[in-house]
Amino acid sequence: MEVSAEIVRLRLAETFVISRESQDWADVVHVTIAHDGHVGRGEAAPIERYGETAVSALGFVEQHSHLVGDDPFALEEIEARLAALEGEQAAKCALDAALHDLQGKLLGAPVWKLLGLPPFGPPTSWTVWLGDPDDMARRAAAAAPRFRRLKLKLGGGDGLDIERVRAVRGVTDLPLQVDVNEWWTLDEALDACGELARLGVEYVEQPLREGDRDGAELRRRSPLPVYVDEDCHTLADVAACRAVAHGINIKLAKSGGIREAIRMAHAARALGLGVMIGCMVESGLGIAAGCTVAPLCDHVDLDGNLLLAKDPAPGPRFVDGLQCSSDEVGLGCG
Ligand SMILES: [Mg+2]
Repeated sequence: MEVSAEIVRLRLAETFVISRESQDWADVVHVTIAHDGHVGRGEAAPIERYGETAVSALGFVEQHSHLVGDDPFALEEIEARLAALEGEQAAKCALDAALHDLQGKLLGAPVWKLLGLPPFGPPTSWTVWLGDPDDMARRAAAAAPRFRRLKLKLGGGDGLDIERVRAVRGVTDLPLQVDVNEWWTLDEALDACGELARLGVEYVEQPLREGDRDGAELRRRSPLPVYVDEDCHTLADVAACRAVAHGINIKLAKSGGIREAIRMAHAARALGLGVMIGCMVESGLGIAAGCTVAPLCDHVDLDGNLLLAKDPAPGPRFVDGLQCSSDEVGLGCG
């Protein structure tokens, strides 16, 4: 198989802000794998938090492209060869997605059908980026008619996080979820979670720092379900999450692809954990891969392509709050 890759810059319709950073564009890597007259495509959305960039992802794909071998159906073997190399999960995800896309094209079927799953999961949340309470309420009100749940980014570090949720609750009855991106201490989390529960928030995502030793105590005492994101990357992390959380947030850019994400979802179920799938800023190509896993999840946060000023690789359809996989072959992004 012949592998090639390039960096693609995604422009956001609006600047976004979370507790760690703000930006108005994101660089991803598009990978193509040519084989037998067909071309499979996948996207890497590197997460800087874990030391990955579009440049490092591109370098990984170019340096290790020979590891995909000659059989696009030998996913287990290809994955084992890639897993022997440290890090660069987004690059591995792009290769995994491109192989799934290629399989679909070779067999003339959409990937969701190959996986034996329906073309959509629960409605996606829409992310309301961190801002002043009034600003978040304004943006939530503007988005609410198109969505069936909202995810609020918290972690302002200014004592106003509850006010942010209260302000948004004042403009919409939609289910709310919050993502703190590691910003709270145990005491802050315990203080906040009672009030968030009263405001009808469904769960709190990653309130504490990754690996925070207070996680088990928060899980025991929190009136709200806790989902972990930064604490849960691959299958190897899932069992330990049971001690500190009620659910996990899977992202393909962390797991290294669809195949590992599906393993994680099933492992989480066996442990009694809730399952969510999230995303980064991604084009339709990245979101299309996430959509294939969404039917296995309780919560879906696949809005990355909806944030873009222009999607360079559209595929999934956004219908009535749902991200639906395309009926086209492969991942359906051409
Ligand atoms: Mg998160």
